[in-house]
Amino acid sequence: MSVKVISVLENILQANEQVAAENRARLDAAGVYAINMMSSPGAGKTSLIEQTLRALSPQMRIGMINGDTSAASMDAERGAQVGAKAVHINTGGNCHLEAHMVRQALAALDLSALDLIIVENVGNLVCPSGWDLGVHARVVVASVTEGDDKPYKYPNMYRVADVLVLNKIDLLPYLEFNVDYFLQGVRLLNPEVQVFQVSCRTGEGIPAWAAWLRERARHSALP
Ligand code: MG
Ligand code: ZN
Repeated sequence: MSVKVISVLENILQANEQVAAENRARLDAAGVYAINMMSSPGAGKTSLIEQTLRALSPQMRIGMINGDTSAASMDAERGAQVGAKAVHINTGGNCHLEAHMVRQALAALDLSALDLIIVENVGNLVCPSGWDLGVHARVVVASVTEGDDKPYKYPNMYRVADVLVLNKIDLLPYLEFNVDYFLQGVRLLNPEVQVFQVSCRTGEGIPAWAAWLRERARHSALP
């Protein structure tokens, strides 16, 4: 019984890998760089997307794919407000995005008119880490209001991250959050991860993050 369940899950993940590879090929053909932004609810993914848009557009043409468990599209609207070509995916209660959902969203965007796509995953630190969406980098957003033990409790999320953005650092003086302890946990799991410390409220650290993203996107657009 349990063996059967495992093989079904493996088939689903294999099918996902296939669609993810197709998504990546499609993005590469269009010269569009794409990232998968993941975090727990409330860490500030949408705020970071807004700040990224303010820093990089209109020089860069940016699309946003926002996944949410319901029809509530206010996050996609926030992206559109600052100039993103935004698509909202209602996952119908599903707690993570899968590659086929991103494929549908890509079909709704004019890729020839974009340089960068930011996928905002469903707020959840567990299963989104296991689903390849066919993008180029995984960005985990953490915030200092969540507690400094998150890497120790959600190791898989921190292991798959290419980039870690630690948000809300303007609040550090008021919290018990130990940045060294947090980063020690991150480095144990993922020595290579790129770390940016930012405040989406004050704008601190945003230029460094935006510059990294601009460079990455520029390289992927080269023939
Ligand atoms: Mg959001
Ligand atoms: Zn899930």
